[in-house]
This record gives sequence, structure tokens and C-alpha cells, in this order.
Amino acid sequence: MISEEEARRKILEAVGFLPSRRLPLSKALGSFAAEDCFARLPLPTFDNSAMDGYAVVASSFTKGARLRVTGEQPAGPDRRLRISPGEAVRIFTGAPVPQMADSIVMQEDVTREGNEILVNTDVKVGEFIRRCGCDLAEGQRILAKGERLGATTIALLASQGIAEVMVGGEVKAAIVSTGDELVKAGGKLEPGQIYESNSALLRALLERCGGIVKSEEHCRDERESLMDAIENGIKNHILIISGGVSVGEHDLVKDALHELGAPLAIWRVAIKPGKPFLFGQLNECAVFGLPGNPVSAFVTFLQFVRPAILKLMGATNLTLPRVPAKLTVDLTNDSDRAHYIRGKLEHGKFTPVGRQESHALFGLSQSNALLRVARGQSLKADEIVDVHIWD
Ligand code: AMP
Ligand code: MG
Repeated sequence: MISEEEARRKILEAVGFLPSRRLPLSKALGSFAAEDCFARLPLPTFDNSAMDGYAVVASSFTKGARLRVTGEQPAGPDRRLRISPGEAVRIFTGAPVPQMADSIVMQEDVTREGNEILVNTDVKVGEFIRRCGCDLAEGQRILAKGERLGATTIALLASQGIAEVMVGGEVKAAIVSTGDELVKAGGKLEPGQIYESNSALLRALLERCGGIVKSEEHCRDERESLMDAIENGIKNHILIISGGVSVGEHDLVKDALHELGAPLAIWRVAIKPGKPFLFGQLNECAVFGLPGNPVSAFVTFLQFVRPAILKLMGATNLTLPRVPAKLTVDLTNDSDRAHYIRGKLEHGKFTPVGRQESHALFGLSQSNALLRVARGQSLKADEIVDVHIWD
């Protein structure tokens, strides 16, 4: 049995980056930048009005002044207007500021009388002008290599006139669930059978990471069919097998991989739930064997499969987001493995939910955070702990 950290290190050593590709922005959400990107344009790109109102020379008058309106500048092509003291230009949000204007006065603060305005307020120099480059300077880094492209980053790239971006490769995955007791949704349950749920879990988790599920197969606890399923699965970058990795006579995954010539890099990790987790490589495929119990499959996916997928995709940050929370109960881990407690993170407090057993899927479904309690660790209520959250 090896430690979690060592298992993760071995897995991450074994997987590399996939070749990067160029994607239109509209397809890039959730991928990782393959290179740094720098601003080609300052933002705002030119001095412009933050309001609908009048461009004025505020330094030349006080409240109560009458100004002559000499032109109009809507958002759009710059009419290259120029004003002098005593004048105003009708202006709209986003429109370029006329030359010599040093302020915008809101239309709510003036009274329009024919070709003139009466200014009903004090106007400070610089008011309501969005200065060129005040948000972003030309040449500033806007995206770092390995950073995930979210909606707001995509908007920023678009604001630079960038239509395509170089991102990391796309991870193709196969899922194989094993077990004679499993029935697909829609099928009829005979006594002793259960519905298969790990494929649904793993597909959802994979897709949330940005992976593409190329095949999903169920396989009986039978050597030949398992070997066929593995041979099919390894045509992808990763193969996730659920169930059959433990020590029972019906746990055939280890032997099947051995027979196919896959050296097992990892089998059994000091993690609870999830101890029988296995990892090996066959051809170019990273093969993960997750324990069949749903919570074990969930925890081992997040701790071992997710970082590997993210690395393949070119991500810099491979760890789950962590947030500090106040623990609401005492917790002790007297087992020989790190224990991931499922719980609810709400208003900065973490409370364990449901049965903390590896089969307890309902409890898991009610949780939104994991707390890692190290081997032998005791935690007290009201302590501040770091909890892991997932996408
Ligand atoms: P195994 O790892 O194959 O020994 O399975 C451990 C437990 O997980 C058993 O109770 C199985 O019935 C259950 N299990 C295995 N695979 C699945 C699956 N795909 N969906 C739901 N439960 C499963
Ligand atoms: Mg089984």
C-alpha cells in the first residue's frame, strides 16, 4: 500500500501533455491555454464616455453655467469633434470623448433649453470619462499558459479581437463497468441485482473535467469479456474500469491487465474509501481501476483520475479547489489511511452528511465538499479546516 501523494506523483509522472490545437473562442470554454496571451490593445481602447450626457470643459465653469451645444457624438465612428470653454457636445455611453473635453456631465444633471444646456451641478474634472488603458495596458498578460478558459476570460480575449486560441489537447476516455450483479437503467432487476450507476457518475465527472467519453461498456466478471473490453478501451487516452479491482475471486481486472502486458504501477493506496485503486499503462493509455463502491469510485476519481486528465489537457493547477470552513463536529480518524469525509459546506461551515461508508450514495449526493482527515488525526468542533470542493 502506498501513500496518496506517492500514487498521485507516479500517475502524474506517467502521463504527459497532449499536443495543443487551435480552437475558435466559441469552442474553447473549459480548455487550458497552451501559451501565454498578451493584450494587443489597451482597455478601454480610447477615452470614452461612461454616461449619456454632455462632454464639457469642467475646468472653465461652475454650477449654474449655460453652455452652447455644438455637436453630437454617439458611440461609433469618432467624429473628431473639439470643444472650447462655454461649449458642450451631446455624448452617449461608449462614445469617444471630443478633444479638449475634460469631463462628462450626466444628462440628468442638466436642463436642455434649445441649443443650450444649463448645468445644475458641480462638475469635477475627469468625471465620467473612462480613460484609455485604465483597465488593461497594451502588452499586459491576459492569459497564462495552463490557465482554464472560463466565460470571462473568453470575453476578454474577444475584446482584444482574438478569434482563435491555442489550447491543450482533448482527452478521450473509455469507461468500463464490471460486475455480474449490475443491470443497466431500463432493464429489469432480478433478485440480487442492482442498477449500474458508476458509469453515470464517471461520465459526469469526466465531462466536468473537460474529457470526452468515447465509449461506455458494461462487462461481466469474466476474463475474456474483460480483456476484450480493456483492449477496446485502451484505444483512448484514458481507460477507467470500475469494480473488480479488489482481492475476491471475481475481481479479475488486475489479472486481465497483467495478461495483456500492462505493468501495474500502483495497486492499493492508503486512502479511505478507495484502497484497492489501481493504475497501469497499456500502450499509450493510462488505465485506472477504481473500486466499485460508488463513493470509492468518486473519491479516487477526484484524487487520481482528475489530476491526470487535467495534466493531459495542459492545466497548471491540478488540485481540487480548497476553501476554509469551520468544522461543526469532532472528528477522529483512527484508521491506517487518510479518510475523506463527505459533508455539506454551507455558510462557511462543514458538517458531515449521511453514512460515511463507501456504498452510501445518497449521503454522497447530499454532500458538496470533502474533508481529508489524515491517519491518526483528531479534529475538534469549531476548528478551521480546509475542505475540497469539486466542479
Ligand atoms: P467491487 O469493487 O467489484 O468488488 O464492487 C464493490 C461494490 O460496489 C459492490 O457492492 C458492487 O455491487 C458495487 N458496484 C460495483 N460496480 C458498480 C457500478 N458500476 N455501479 C454501482 N455499484 C457498483
Ligand atoms: Mg465486482
